[in-house]
Amino acid sequence: MIDFESFKREFNIIAGPCAIENKKQIETIAAAVKDSGATVLRGGAFKLRSDANSFMGLGPDGAKLLVNAGKKVGLPVLTEVTKISDLQFLSDVDILQIGTRNMQNYPLITETAKTGKIILLKRGFGCTIKEYLQSVEYIKKEGNDKIILCERGIRTFETALRNTFDVSAVAILKDKTNFPVFADPSHASGDRKYVKRLSLSAVAIGCDGLEIEVHNAPEKALSDREQALNLDEFKELVSQVKELRKTVQNFYE
Ligand code: PEP
Ligand code: MN
Repeated sequence: MIDFESFKREFNIIAGPCAIENKKQIETIAAAVKDSGATVLRGGAFKLRSDANSFMGLGPDGAKLLVNAGKKVGLPVLTEVTKISDLQFLSDVDILQIGTRNMQNYPLITETAKTGKIILLKRGFGCTIKEYLQSVEYIKKEGNDKIILCERGIRTFETALRNTFDVSAVAILKDKTNFPVFADPSHASGDRKYVKRLSLSAVAIGCDGLEIEVHNAPEKALSDREQALNLDEFKELVSQVKELRKTVQNFYE
């Protein structure tokens, strides 16, 4: 169980695969990211994919594999809830993520909030910061203020990358709320080549944590292959993030 008050005081790095694929995959990644300094293990059990014919995740079995992998290495775990009926399988998960496509799914947000668990609510890729904060109210309304915000890139006229990383959103959310503000450079860029620069830019502007997709064999990943860092790349990134964080953390106090 995470103590949210102490969680908030630390810089947290959530890392793991886009999707849980099998026991060996998630356990290998769990051990490696823990060793590199990740503080939360992530993995998708229920996947919302744009392509209807792609891998949709292992479902409840995936959630079990994630929870066990987290226990084995001593990391709390995060997974995405995609619909209300997923919740019955996620009682052992520490942080429930509501993804970009569901940022305005108010019934899902409400039911997820009622679990009393920590919720990481991603920004909708087509939503304004005002709309984002309106969705946050649905969590608070249920008496749950264990909320993590996460900028994960938005849709703009620019098509060079999967999304446009709205780094200003991190600053604005820090200004307008007291919730931890994370950044997800993996979905923001969609390309592992840019994950490091986007991560460091988020740290520089004062984010409270990062969520990063990591895979032991990115070229074989069943989901979001192009953006996953390999285990070595992740390790190097964590040490650079920590170094930069040390420099900037007093700038914004
Ligand atoms: C994810 O974290 O795997 C994910 C699907 O994120 P998003 O909802 O931001 O696309
Ligand atoms: Mn993903």
